[in-house]
Amino acid sequence: MSYSTEELHKLDKQYYLPTFRRYPLAFKKGKGSRLWDMEGNEYIDALAGIAVNNLGHAHPKLAEAISKQANELIHISNFYVSEPQIKLAKKLADLSGLQRVFFGNSGAEAAEGAIKIARKYASKNGRGGTIIAMKNAFHGRTLAALAATGKEAMMQGFAPIPEGFCHVPFNDMDLLKEKVNDDVAGIMLEPIQGEGGVNPVDPVFLKELRQYCDEQNIVLIFDEVQCGMGRTGHWFAHEHFDVKPDVMTLAKALGGGVPIGAVLASERVGSAIDWGDHGTTYGGNPLVCSAALACIEVTEEEDLMHQAVEKGAWLKDQIEKVKPDYPEIKEVRGYGLMLGIELTVEAKPIVVAMMNHKVLANATAGNVVRLVPPLNIPMEDWKTVFEVLLQSIKELR
Ligand SMILES: *Cc1c(COP(=O)(O)O)cnc(C)c1O
Repeated sequence: MSYSTEELHKLDKQYYLPTFRRYPLAFKKGKGSRLWDMEGNEYIDALAGIAVNNLGHAHPKLAEAISKQANELIHISNFYVSEPQIKLAKKLADLSGLQRVFFGNSGAEAAEGAIKIARKYASKNGRGGTIIAMKNAFHGRTLAALAATGKEAMMQGFAPIPEGFCHVPFNDMDLLKEKVNDDVAGIMLEPIQGEGGVNPVDPVFLKELRQYCDEQNIVLIFDEVQCGMGRTGHWFAHEHFDVKPDVMTLAKALGGGVPIGAVLASERVGSAIDWGDHGTTYGGNPLVCSAALACIEVTEEEDLMHQAVEKGAWLKDQIEKVKPDYPEIKEVRGYGLMLGIELTVEAKPIVVAMMNHKVLANATAGNVVRLVPPLNIPMEDWKTVFEVLLQSIKELR
């Protein structure tokens, strides 16, 4: 016996911690860029589990890698090594040019790891532990990641919030320098802010920041949890700006939906970590690492980054063309298939209208419609997403 969508929502309200304000949907099955609800209604997915399902749903290579690994070995302790873990660590090091890798289970955990690495390095170099982060950032919901996020509404009621974080406006070098003293261990930012409304960093600011961090011996941390792993057309978004971090976090698309996060560090900074400094039970187990390896392989084999670039450029182009007829569209931003369409009106009602037309998107930062579909979304579906977006804007006039 299977539950109906309505029954599931009733039970959700009864049993689940009431932290999510959910849409009245429940999904049972997916394939590629399509999802089916409990009643068999079909949806086009332009959210991809929030930039997670880069390969789409139920990709046969990913499903096979998971099932094969599950039949062989799901988990061992990090007292031992496994082939999938070491292969994945080497692959990520090769792709990023960073030498050291540690696996956790989420983006927030990767942020925690990054903060610890930066602080340990700072403590060995005579600096304090303060982390400077950006306004409108998002780094996760665990306590330190929340402190790094710095969003007042998210911190309400959770005092005491861990100390040692401060925030500066994104892309402002002068105000950032004002905050720097010997207490600062690291500077943390998303090369393209996701939750903040798909805001790409100013390339000049980023170059200056890199140089400044080198001069001051401050650890530069990039949070690529959302913009990393191919979505923007490069493996890592920082490649667009030709600036390398000392420490980088990954999660979301890394495992294509299985829970895995990673923190990477240069040899120089990563070597500050000593035996016993950090740990995890599940982190980087054979199952999730096999899944992540399969995701990377498919991204390469199916040229998904190229697909992201083409489809992203197509949408930007279309939006520019129709803009004169849609005064509600202020601007379209982003790289590859990490796109934000800033509106002059609230984005949430538009997203709800799109949902009623069976297209899933997301509203962020109040007035931004975020589109982060699977990178292999067929052109046909991508066109439907665009048409439904326009139609939904019109309906709400
Ligand atoms: C989603 C996200 C996180 C948090 O990841 P979780 O897996 O939800 O903990 C951190 N940083 C960025 C940029 C994100 O988009």
